[in-house]
Amino acid sequence: MAELFGINAKHLIESVPEALAPCEFEVKFDKVKGHKITPRVIVVHYGVTRSQKELEQALLGNDYVSAHIALTARGSENKITQLVPTNVQAGHAGANAFWRGQPNVNSFSLGIEINNPGPLFRGADGLFRDVYGRLWDEEEPLAAPHASGRFPAWRLWAPYTAKEVLAVELLCRSWIRKYPTIVDVVGHDEIRRDKADPGPAFPMLELRARLFE
Ligand SMILES: [Zn+2]
Repeated sequence: MAELFGINAKHLIESVPEALAPCEFEVKFDKVKGHKITPRVIVVHYGVTRSQKELEQALLGNDYVSAHIALTARGSENKITQLVPTNVQAGHAGANAFWRGQPNVNSFSLGIEINNPGPLFRGADGLFRDVYGRLWDEEEPLAAPHASGRFPAWRLWAPYTAKEVLAVELLCRSWIRKYPTIVDVVGHDEIRRDKADPGPAFPMLELRARLFE
């Protein structure tokens, strides 16, 4: 097996790197309606979700929100789903996003959504819950302020697994090889003032350094 993702002529993943095994993989879309794009930047998100199924439903279930990849690598759930070909525009960055001063980020970016609830809150009972009040009983949350200084009430974050970070890195490496026009990877929180994802628990600075410096 290869070290990187295999990507075919239709801009769809056709094989997953050995380092991510075991990993279920699926291509799932019923319509390709976006404009053609030449990707220049990769944007990383969390889905405010608790399962791959919930994440996929959020991205497939409406006409305005989509992303190229939805992924989970947590516990027994290991799955990467491609929802939009990587030469087609998805709807993940939003209208108020700017990358290096340029608007319409969806028109030149690839979006990766990770199944992760984002901020967590400790209740009077000492238990952690997500923004929807659902119990978080997995790893200890990361205690850190958001680097932007925004979101002062959000101080605890659901960790990403090492395998999720590796999956994002290998997706980036595979796409950079396929599309030499890609010159950056950013968090959604770096290109939109009202977004906190992927937040302090994701090693964005380290990933960017490994890929581009
Ligand atoms: Zn986002």
